[in-house]
Amino acid sequence: MNLEKFSIGTGDRFAHQGKAQLAAIIKAKQQGCNIVPVWNKSNREHSIIGTKPADLKKEADAAVKALGWKDSYYIDADHINLSNVDGFIDSSNFFTLDVADYIGLKCDEKDLKAFIAANKKFIGTIEIPGIGGKLNITQNDLEKIGGKFLLAVKKAGETYHHIIEKKGSNNFVTEVSVDESNLPQSPTEMLFILSAIAAQKIPAQTIAPKFTGRFNKGVDYVGDVKQFEKEFNEDIAVINFAIKEFGLPANLKLSVHSGSDKFSIYTPIKKALKTSGAGLHLKTAGTTWLEEIIGLALAGGEGLDIAKDVYRQAIEHFDELCGPYATVIDIDKAKLPSPDEVDKWDSVKYANTLRHDQKCRDYNLNFRQLIHVGYKIAAKMGSRYINALEKYEDTIAKTVTENIYDRHIKRIFLD
Ligand SMILES: [Zn+2]
Repeated sequence: MNLEKFSIGTGDRFAHQGKAQLAAIIKAKQQGCNIVPVWNKSNREHSIIGTKPADLKKEADAAVKALGWKDSYYIDADHINLSNVDGFIDSSNFFTLDVADYIGLKCDEKDLKAFIAANKKFIGTIEIPGIGGKLNITQNDLEKIGGKFLLAVKKAGETYHHIIEKKGSNNFVTEVSVDESNLPQSPTEMLFILSAIAAQKIPAQTIAPKFTGRFNKGVDYVGDVKQFEKEFNEDIAVINFAIKEFGLPANLKLSVHSGSDKFSIYTPIKKALKTSGAGLHLKTAGTTWLEEIIGLALAGGEGLDIAKDVYRQAIEHFDELCGPYATVIDIDKAKLPSPDEVDKWDSVKYANTLRHDQKCRDYNLNFRQLIHVGYKIAAKMGSRYINALEKYEDTIAKTVTENIYDRHIKRIFLD
């Protein structure tokens, strides 16, 4: 199973926006831009919302059928590991093996020796086309990189081979993610992570590194855009080198996690894709859920009431909601409006505050990040929330499609 050059991960927390998301991809196709959808959902999201991987597949199948989508589509078991993969085997054809928890943990001496022996030939200077300057590799580099990443990659290998046993080979796509780690990986680290992935016989088609800067949920990139651009281009160069050198799948490409709403890096990404001819997997998750709330607010009536309630309760449960996301949100509490104030807002004021339009004076990124982590509140509302999604489907679908198409696809893949 070969993942196409361009793919977009469309998380959908409450599994009601599959059609609206696919509509954006169809719109791109009508413009001559081929992107395939990958519906991704992590174990954490499933357990908070109370859904099962089979629900996600059902949603995707229904959307594809309703809109007559004939190209490929994927169901991503997002950020899984050996302890939770089993529940995803039947319903997924894309597995994101997340091994970041094992980065830096001690590996077998024997494994480290084998790794160093296999990569000894790179000691010295190597030239990688596309990287300005050469990479200088020392024995010490190999020891350090092996020591830091080998156990993690081995764990990815165990998970991959477990999936193969249950599912057979060649009927799913494999991604390896190391994005949820503290430090960005250098091109040299990337090169030898890929070497280790190949040695574990994991046919990775996408790799999600940790890039420089903050990838906060649902809001713009915070960091050095120039440095990001350099890393992104170097990663593409290293991947192309590693494909040939280690025999990894020819379509191996970068996966950008928390990729939604990072508008300030979309121009450099677009430029890099154009000049290198590389592919991209852009993973988005919560941006669709935020559009649901915007759509509900715009619908008025019970929709707006729910949007206000979600905010009030999110304030009340601030620490509980923000805790698990501490490393991927930055909320300035002083800039959050009080729930009493929000209760007085009309539809437009609420939507303008939440919608990611930096030119709009009402836009409040603190408000947006809090709602982003507030999906647990909506999950607790149960049928009240789901009924509203169904009642106001038209208004919500419009905002979901517009967000994916105009603010994401258009800025990265079109023109
Ligand atoms: Zn991720």
